[in-house]
Amino acid sequence: MPADDHLNFIEQIIENYIADPPQTAGADLLPIATRFPPEPNGYLHIGHAKSICLNFGLSKKYNGNFTLRFDDTNPSKEETEYVESIINDVQWLTGESMDGKIRYASDYFDQMYAWAEELINKGLAYVCDQTLDEMRDNRGTPDKPMTPSAGRSFSPEKNLELFRAMRDGKFQDGERTLRAKIDLASPNFNMRDPVMYRILKTPHHRQGDKWCIYPMYDWAHGLEDSIEHITHSICTLEFEHHRPLYDWFLDHLDGIWRPHQYEFARLNLTYTVMSKRKLLELVKSAPAACGGLNVSGWDDPRMPTICGFRRRGYTPEAVRNFCKEIGVAKFNSTVDVVKLENAVREDLNKTALRRMAVLNPVKLVIDNYPVSGGTCSGTEYLEAINNPENPADGTRKVPFSKVLYIEADDFMEDAPKKYYRLTPGQEVRLRYAYYVKCTGCVKDENGKVIEVHCTYDPATRGGQSPDGRKVQGTIHWVSAEHAVDAEVRLYDRLFTKESPDDPQDPADYKEYLNPNSLQIIENAKLEPAFSADDFNRRENLRYQFERIGYFCLDNSPRAAGTNKLVFNRTVSLRDSWAKVNR
Ligand code: ATP
Ligand code: MG
Repeated sequence: MPADDHLNFIEQIIENYIADPPQTAGADLLPIATRFPPEPNGYLHIGHAKSICLNFGLSKKYNGNFTLRFDDTNPSKEETEYVESIINDVQWLTGESMDGKIRYASDYFDQMYAWAEELINKGLAYVCDQTLDEMRDNRGTPDKPMTPSAGRSFSPEKNLELFRAMRDGKFQDGERTLRAKIDLASPNFNMRDPVMYRILKTPHHRQGDKWCIYPMYDWAHGLEDSIEHITHSICTLEFEHHRPLYDWFLDHLDGIWRPHQYEFARLNLTYTVMSKRKLLELVKSAPAACGGLNVSGWDDPRMPTICGFRRRGYTPEAVRNFCKEIGVAKFNSTVDVVKLENAVREDLNKTALRRMAVLNPVKLVIDNYPVSGGTCSGTEYLEAINNPENPADGTRKVPFSKVLYIEADDFMEDAPKKYYRLTPGQEVRLRYAYYVKCTGCVKDENGKVIEVHCTYDPATRGGQSPDGRKVQGTIHWVSAEHAVDAEVRLYDRLFTKESPDDPQDPADYKEYLNPNSLQIIENAKLEPAFSADDFNRRENLRYQFERIGYFCLDNSPRAAGTNKLVFNRTVSLRDSWAKVNR
């Protein structure tokens, strides 16, 4: 079949498979089946998102099956909290319920155990009495084979007896292991009699005390794939050297479904870390250990976790589009986080409702605006467009009055030439409202501007001048009398260094935490379209604050039972980082 440029290399493999189905033992050709196999020992991050999009996407594209399989073979680090968060995140990202698709590797422990006995009976596995340290010391070098342990030459009957004793709790943690009898001299160290089972007297989150021996990843993974009739078991490149072992186990068991493993490049992203161990460390460490920085949890909006993204206002569509854009390759690389942010901007530009919000307010007084009588009696309601990208989102009425809030930096007393905002003598447009001409300002005793003054032209209602007069600048505003108070949290990159955990760098990655990654604005002023109603009705409300960025309502105050409005900045309108840190 000719290579198709539009297919990634895994799709190409699948299309070849469909065109020329393999003669597989134990079952007829089944639908394409993929799985996402997280270990429930942490929350999912953007790297996992890539794997989910790939595996789930393939099952959709080829009308196949998908399983969300918890690889829960290590009871010491696993918790139910992680299982629940993972299900939630996968459902959010894929937009589909995982009902009927969830599996647990631990449900296969009986079957795996039976297969282990099969290998022992065939003389292909034995019980070893070396400790892990001894095993390491005995593993040999590329030129020198591994030193075998006594069990390697025991009879299958004796090994079976010992293995059953292991299972029955007759040995302590670390005293014995079950190992595959493969090749003491293999140039691939994974094949030098790898461990299949170890003793761990730790209760399991689903199995309780039923087991005190637990299967190792390399032994378990292919069996899990086989039980689920996975056709394409896709994992990251580090497992390439484990594939011979994956194949060896499956090849030596009788009459089982034969899956195949394929490897793709893992995703790395700039300005963040992705190892679960490090993310856990950030979540659990006291602020003092992180340069005073306090990551509030796995869902802190600065974390590269799926739940962090969700809380920050990223959409599942944006994350999926990003994963599609970066593609699937066979070599590792680091993707610029700007790509992810651009995917978020692109999606939110289409969907986010526009609102006016002033983050750093100063009063703007329209001296000739009538307070009562005249054309209006203090307040008028002006029509504003909710989303220029989507006319179906309609319009809203925004209250306008004599005293407004504007951004402090939209006024300058002594402005340079190309400053098109408010400065004495200059006319600007108030978005959706009127042309106003700045007349001056009032300052406090320290010289800080506390009020800007202007006059308006009633003929320019709606922001257009009937005489065709043009203005260079348009600024946003909020009516002071009607403004709603909110807290706004501005997030920046969690790290100041592009690759904070670069293995070449001796410094600890935590030294590169960005101390300015969160700025809290306590007293932002929002137009009253943000009502308690909005707040109570819907989750994940996402907005564009005009001229500022994309924001979403944070649900944590509501969860805590208060009515405080808190907005998280999802992403700025443009990438300002590139300029600032040049
Ligand atoms: P750790 O951070 O401890 O190395 P892990 O990220 O490998 O753990 P798993 O729960 O084993 O965590 O991962 C589940 C699946 O997600 C695996 O199939 C793995 O290959 C894939 N995966 C993990 N990290 C990435 C990544 N950065 N890019 C692409 N896929 C990933
Ligand atoms: Mg892993």
